Amino acid sequence: MKVADMHCDTLAELWYTRWDGAVPMELKKNSLHIDIEKMRKGDYLLQNFAVFVNLDRKLDPLESALYQIDIFYEELRKNADMIRLAKSFADIEKNMQDGVISGVLSIEEGAVCKGKVEFLRIMYQLGVRMMTLTWNHENELGYPNNVPTDSSTVFPCGPETLLGLKEKGYEFIEEMERLGMVIDVSHLSDAGFYQILEHTKKPFAASHSNARSLCRHCRNLSDDMIVKLAGRGGVIGLNYLGSFLEEGETDRTCHSRVSRMAEHARHITNLGGMECLGLGSDFDGITHNLEMKDSSMLPLLEDALKKAGFSSSDIEKIFYKNVLNLYKEVWKA
Ligand SMILES: [Zn+2]
Repeated sequence: MKVADMHCDTLAELWYTRWDGAVPMELKKNSLHIDIEKMRKGDYLLQNFAVFVNLDRKLDPLESALYQIDIFYEELRKNADMIRLAKSFADIEKNMQDGVISGVLSIEEGAVCKGKVEFLRIMYQLGVRMMTLTWNHENELGYPNNVPTDSSTVFPCGPETLLGLKEKGYEFIEEMERLGMVIDVSHLSDAGFYQILEHTKKPFAASHSNARSLCRHCRNLSDDMIVKLAGRGGVIGLNYLGSFLEEGETDRTCHSRVSRMAEHARHITNLGGMECLGLGSDFDGITHNLEMKDSSMLPLLEDALKKAGFSSSDIEKIFYKNVLNLYKEVWKA
């Protein structure tokens, strides 16, 4: 089964090995969840590579992003016989015909643009086709979903229902829609989610989030958010992180099981229909207790979905068709 995955943090991992002075890792073959060899084994057709910036690291966010974008293009150049850039739907189709994987560039942390819409347009020119407005920190555009709660509770954060987008955030979503860049609400506050719903027209994505009804983590979507996002024609990427799949005493006791992913898939599609779900692995941004250990092992998830009663045509939609339809719809200017 072909795979289109809306989110991974592999670029940041590749960058850290260069930045930390360690032996630089390559995209072709490495010890991470995602490399080209594993993706080919897993029958990948498309992978979104997020430029991930953690503002806690106190590095210039734009500079951090540019390093990762350079790594992305250098790795594509070295491996052009196996993976190529996609920044239009025609590119995806051409890459499919040529039997190569499509690499899509996205951003996870809107602070990369420093609140300047001019820099957003430059990111678009550099090939970025999807962006989360925030990661886990407040920035120039708005507020994330991580109201600190008592650390003794099993939930690391509560949903932020009051603080959403800032003025610059509104300016950005308008420009993103005009450009044809997918607005990604993963990590954004609940308040921000509803403001985006109200102030945009195109479908948008939650590239790597699950169902809050099954796992009460603020990074997951409430039933109402799932219905509203699906009603707009958007897509939710199923996240493989244990603590977004099931509740445990600590992150380490949360297991990432494919049978549990199938339960989230069933819940989300029952609410939003079979067209609203895709994959958003979060590979290379997640650790420990993964039943599906890397990108070569997607057939495990396919089997779990079959066992849960999803038909082959349902699984095709979840594995790649819904994501491709989203990009086809939003990327056209
Ligand atoms: Zn994330």
